[in-house]
Amino acid sequence: MFKIKIPSKVLKPLTQQLRVEELKLKKRRQNLELEDPFNDDDRITNNAAVDTDAAEESGHDRVAALKLEVDKTLINIRKTLTRIKLGRFGLCENCGRLIDTDRLAIDPTASLCITCAAKK
Ligand SMILES: [Zn+2]
Repeated sequence: MFKIKIPSKVLKPLTQQLRVEELKLKKRRQNLELEDPFNDDDRITNNAAVDTDAAEESGHDRVAALKLEVDKTLINIRKTLTRIKLGRFGLCENCGRLIDTDRLAIDPTASLCITCAAKK
């Protein structure tokens, strides 16, 4: 197993950045919750026509898809923060090799090296 030392001057701002991102996503998720027509209180009382129901249905699907996206990113960020804490940041989850730094620069939450990502 490789042991790498990524300097804290790199990890600290990255941790900061990920935490900010995490907060932003949490907020976004809350907003999506509000946007979901299924959570609209008026829905129960208003006598919705069929086409309104259909619009609500597709609105709900869209919000649900967005929420799923946000959740996935949130999980990735949390996993990355844990890896930083454990000193395993930048190591491939699959083979334990170093992940290319260019790849990490583009996506710090990348958990697989290019070789393993390509195999997936
Ligand atoms: Zn790998």
